[in-house]
Amino acid sequence: MSDNTKDLSYFEGKIVPASEAKLSVQTHAFQYGTAVFGGIRGYYNTDLKNLFVFRIKDHFTRLIQSTRIMQLNTSRTPDELADITLDLLKQCAYKQNVYIRPIIYTSSLQLSPRFHDVKTDVAIYVLKLDDYLDTTNGLTTCISSWRRIDDTMIPTMSKASGGYVNSALAKSEAVQNGFDEAIFLDSKGYVSEGSAENIFIVRRNKIITPSLDSSILEGITRRTIFDLAKFCNFEIEVRNITRSELYVADEIFFSGTGVQVAWVKSVDRRIIGDGNIGPISKKLQEVYFNTVKGNQKEFKDWCYPVY
Ligand code: PMP
Repeated sequence: MSDNTKDLSYFEGKIVPASEAKLSVQTHAFQYGTAVFGGIRGYYNTDLKNLFVFRIKDHFTRLIQSTRIMQLNTSRTPDELADITLDLLKQCAYKQNVYIRPIIYTSSLQLSPRFHDVKTDVAIYVLKLDDYLDTTNGLTTCISSWRRIDDTMIPTMSKASGGYVNSALAKSEAVQNGFDEAIFLDSKGYVSEGSAENIFIVRRNKIITPSLDSSILEGITRRTIFDLAKFCNFEIEVRNITRSELYVADEIFFSGTGVQVAWVKSVDRRIIGDGNIGPISKKLQEVYFNTVKGNQKEFKDWCYPVY
């Protein structure tokens, strides 16, 4: 089968072959994690023969907010970055699901960790990606021995590269101990989120998720779930969740651009509910996949066509 796709990236102000998007080892951001990034998905709809990028404007708005939080100096706007990304995808000519990673980073070849007086640049690359974690069989999880970074240490509302050392520690510990994913507690001991995804539990038919004061990233998929839950007439509550509440939850699921909507089968070897996907997780997962592919007419505005 012929493949007309091109592996391209946006780098130093232009679209170039991905193999040319390379940085020096002296780059400031490489040394100190002084960068912010996004993670966006594009879904190829084979019936409509189009690639739909999900909530691209919201992702770039959060990215620019992350630069503001960190004082990463940039004159780029969410609209401009969204247009560059849609153009990049068109030139790549992908006809499959993709993951888009924009990153705004300190680009000077300089020492001294700081955000002021250092040049910044934007890069965007694209990967072909289907599932990142299994969404059908249920995930085994554990409470991480690592606590989620606190907002008083690294602003948790920003997707700051350096903060992902925390995620990497939790993820590796979980996988090396035989689990699929980790669940972080926050510095106060309440449930925070997964290593790179938000968490929801269901108890007595009500959906519950931690609030921003549990040091979570304000996920765009989390916000999507709020709207989809309303659409499905499910009740939702935002409040602190204790560790023991996880063990007695009827259902648990993760949300995130990468993870999509993935249900949790066990926490610390305790089976959640009856060990099968629960009705609320199942319904939300179904509506979510219809929505991101551009098949749910009520939410079509979230899907930005590439072609
Ligand atoms: N928390 C963390 C730490 C993440 O890295 C992500 C992925 N971006 C999420 C939550 C989910 O965010 P979103 O729904 O915007 O992808």
